[in-house]
Amino acid sequence: MSTSVLVINCGSSSIKYALVSDRREDRIYGLAENLGSAEARIKGITFGGQPLELSIPYADHEKALETVLNRLSQYRPQAIGHRVVHGGSLTKAERLTPEIIDRIRAATPLAPLHNPAHLIGIDATMRLFPDLPQVAVFDTAFHQTMPAHAYRYAVPKFLYTEHNVRRYGFHGTSHAYVSNRAVQLSEHMEKGGWLSAHLGNGSSTCAIWNGQSVDTSMGLTPLEGIVMGTRSGDVDPSIHSFLANNLGWGIEKIDKMLNSESGLLGLSALSNDMRTLIEASEQGNEDATLAIEVFCYRLAKSLAGISCGLPRVDGLIFTGGIGENSAYIREKTMSYLPHFAFELSKEKNNELKRGTEGRIDGGTGPQIWVIPTDEEGRIAQETRTVVDHLTAQDSTAAVAAV
Ligand code: ADP
Repeated sequence: MSTSVLVINCGSSSIKYALVSDRREDRIYGLAENLGSAEARIKGITFGGQPLELSIPYADHEKALETVLNRLSQYRPQAIGHRVVHGGSLTKAERLTPEIIDRIRAATPLAPLHNPAHLIGIDATMRLFPDLPQVAVFDTAFHQTMPAHAYRYAVPKFLYTEHNVRRYGFHGTSHAYVSNRAVQLSEHMEKGGWLSAHLGNGSSTCAIWNGQSVDTSMGLTPLEGIVMGTRSGDVDPSIHSFLANNLGWGIEKIDKMLNSESGLLGLSALSNDMRTLIEASEQGNEDATLAIEVFCYRLAKSLAGISCGLPRVDGLIFTGGIGENSAYIREKTMSYLPHFAFELSKEKNNELKRGTEGRIDGGTGPQIWVIPTDEEGRIAQETRTVVDHLTAQDSTAAVAAV
């Protein structure tokens, strides 16, 4: 196997990992889940595509990471790349140092569900593998190129200057990967305007001009924007005072409702899973039908809105579990954008095989692409870039010292 990077994405009770090398077919990946409980286990794919299932009762993050790394050490990873949701003011991937770890910790109030879990993983791998270079790659970093008129909220200035209240945006590694890939796949589009729709359990849109994010649908937290599996996306912020005054709800209850009980699940009162909703809708479930309609309409509205950040729209990309797999959702979304020059080819849209990339427009208007995202691949690539840069700096310093 060629030089590889171990990519780690630590959640509160699970860890996703992937050993990424030059060949995608060689990728080893898996999930350590139910950590801290009797059911803790690792499930994944080993070299050669063989399935793996390993019980690790009561393993915590450190034990699980040790088990994963021991299994993978034979492949000699060159570095570890950590996915970190919120980088605060950090604008690019960074080698993990005590100062960078402190800055990730400082961004915790902005991502209270994610950053503490990432820090547990970082702590464990730094202790277990002190000699391996480790890099943090931030979901927010790609969006740091947004202009102030896209990232500022219309609230008192001191909330921004003293408390960092602004729009950050997330899913940056995915939007960066698919837009870069779209440029590679479509000729003469290097200097172009792209819209990207990442549609999974969490969903967001992004406008990209000449390879840089100029606007995105998520904001201070990953709650803002379009309808998601269990997240509401945009609501009137007065919903807080309405629910507090009329139903006596506290902040925690409202936050939980907006983050975990809303979105597709809330609208349908059935499921957060798009496949389930499409099936239910086909069988006549009206709530499921409405949930799908709201999802597609609000998605189209967001794409139209952020297109204002682009001098020109050259193409649109669908990605994420829903965007990659559902021709139905893609068609319905495009039906709400008739005033753009997009021309969807129903045939190409329906015929695109699951998990493959392909162009689905009719050839006259802006291009429309389906591109399976590869966040792990992008994190590995950014990790390599940081490590190679540091190595080059070290060699220059060594030569200078001689
Ligand atoms: P995550 O954000 O957790 O990574 P994914 O990107 O895997 O999520 O997306 C999960 C979503 O993709 C679920 O709502 C699932 O129903 C949806 N999905 C997967 N396959 C299909 C399909 N064939 N048709 C419609 N939705 C699909």
